[in-house]
Amino acid sequence: MRGPFLLNSRTIDLRVKRTAPGTYKASNSKTAVKYVGRSDSNLNAELKTHVNRYKYFWYEYATSLKAAFEKECSLYHYHGGAQGKLDNKNHPGRPAGYHWKCPRCSMFD
Ligand SMILES: [Zn+2]
Repeated sequence: MRGPFLLNSRTIDLRVKRTAPGTYKASNSKTAVKYVGRSDSNLNAELKTHVNRYKYFWYEYATSLKAAFEKECSLYHYHGGAQGKLDNKNHPGRPAGYHWKCPRCSMFD
């Protein structure tokens, strides 16, 4: 992932120029991740919903919706989302109409 970058609209526009799916991490410190997420269509716009909530972000474009979903799941588990260590209230969801499984747990089995 690229980052950390300051999470403000100007920096997002400078760094995330493609209208594309992708995943991201956000935090108020450069060393501890507090939120993970993804966009299935426009990572730039999704990141902007977190302005004023977090100070830094990291991002990575995805080559497909499935790749974005699986990457978000992996980030969620890697950073302790299942143990309540993230601000994410819920496990990452699947895009509507798809039935992929999480590569790290059995919640969609
Ligand atoms: Zn999972």
